[in-house]
Amino acid sequence: MSKVLVIGCGGVASVAIHKCCQVSDVFTELCIASRTKSKCDALAEKLAPTTKTKITTAQVDADDVDQLIALIKSYQPDLVMNIALPYQDLTIMDACLACGVNYMDTANYEPENTDDPEWRAIYEKRCKEAGFSAYFDYSWQWAYKKKFEDAGLTALLGCGFDPGVTQAYCAYAAKHEFDTIDTIDILDCNGGDHGYAFATNFNPEINLREVSAPGSYMENGRWVEIPAMSIKREYDFDQVGKKDMYLLHHEEIESLGKNFPDVKRIRFFMTFGQSYLDHMRCLEDVGMLSTTPINYNGQEIVPIQFLKALLPDPASLGPRTKGKTNIGCIFTGTKDGQPKTYYIYNVCDHQACYREVGSQAISYTTGVPAMCGALMMLTGQWTKPGVYTVEEFNPDPFLDALDKYGLPRSENRAPALVD
Ligand code: NDP
Repeated sequence: MSKVLVIGCGGVASVAIHKCCQVSDVFTELCIASRTKSKCDALAEKLAPTTKTKITTAQVDADDVDQLIALIKSYQPDLVMNIALPYQDLTIMDACLACGVNYMDTANYEPENTDDPEWRAIYEKRCKEAGFSAYFDYSWQWAYKKKFEDAGLTALLGCGFDPGVTQAYCAYAAKHEFDTIDTIDILDCNGGDHGYAFATNFNPEINLREVSAPGSYMENGRWVEIPAMSIKREYDFDQVGKKDMYLLHHEEIESLGKNFPDVKRIRFFMTFGQSYLDHMRCLEDVGMLSTTPINYNGQEIVPIQFLKALLPDPASLGPRTKGKTNIGCIFTGTKDGQPKTYYIYNVCDHQACYREVGSQAISYTTGVPAMCGALMMLTGQWTKPGVYTVEEFNPDPFLDALDKYGLPRSENRAPALVD
């Protein structure tokens, strides 16, 4: 029996809310709050006849801590699920602390305005000290650890698929499969085809910022940074087939490096088709991925936000996308003194997701873990005061929940390795 406030009503939130409504004995009451209330109302109206969960809606600007506090105080939730954008992570954490409520999200903080001189000074210092230059990192949210501990509250960070399930796979491998882990390769394959020459599968601004950044991986506890898309491999994915994949910087490498300090190398690869890469490079070359506002005919425009307005809404890709995703982790290490390899992954079918919740698999593979993470927190299985990433909790009940609610695991004990 619990009351949950979901902030955001985009592609991922919509799936998470659908799934919460399938578990009404835990998610007894749900408030969907977002910037555009009409989207919340439409989803609530669609779901109401299908669920026992009591759904209400609200309008909120999650950049405004006072508005958030007023909403949380009036609704009195047991948990706030932040499924808006990474820009709102800190304001929502502040509001949760002010109101004494547990917090979770699906992506780590990054600022909307990367030209802000105050943020830029901290960022440039971190680039030099840590050795990677992505705009997002965990330091901002890890800085809340003591505050959450003192308040006796739990903050769960990055509980989507990657980050999220990939870290649970690492915790599971460390707990059940290995005595020592030497290497972790996280492989994110989207074998889906939406028929457009160019579209992004989740929020275009966040997606393009991530993909166009330099790649990096962790080796012997240190970051190694490489030019964007400069390490390419081909891999034959179960149920998808052969795909080109590229080494990217990804947020879970940072927390895995901290929580598994003995692992010698941690890398992240994502598949991309040539058309996507050609379009992205061209858009970048002409300045369309810039977050710096320009003045056009007397109006201020942020190029990447203008691009977002032109691109297909990721939520509209559902009916068009065919094919499967395959996301998981390949480990090397030892067990009982013997060398060992192990691959744990999930395969998800875009059309099956669409039939179930009206969304494609990228939103589905993020929204289902968000619901399962919330389920872990609400049932007391993942609560400890402080700020934590997924690998810091017991992976077993979470992976069992994923098996049950739509993202079952597959295993391979003799996988092809990535060189
Ligand atoms: P969308 O752009 O589809 O949805 C974002 C939602 O947040 C919209 O409803 C939007 O409202 C709302 N929102 C934005 N700004 C505010 C604000 N200031 N106040 C209130 N509401 C706001 O994004 P996605 O659903 O694709 O992504 C959601 C999150 O999931 C992101 O943080 C993304 O990085 C993360 N993600 C994580 C993955 C993982 O595996 N861990 C994978 C994919 C995504 P409006 O309708 O008005 O625009």
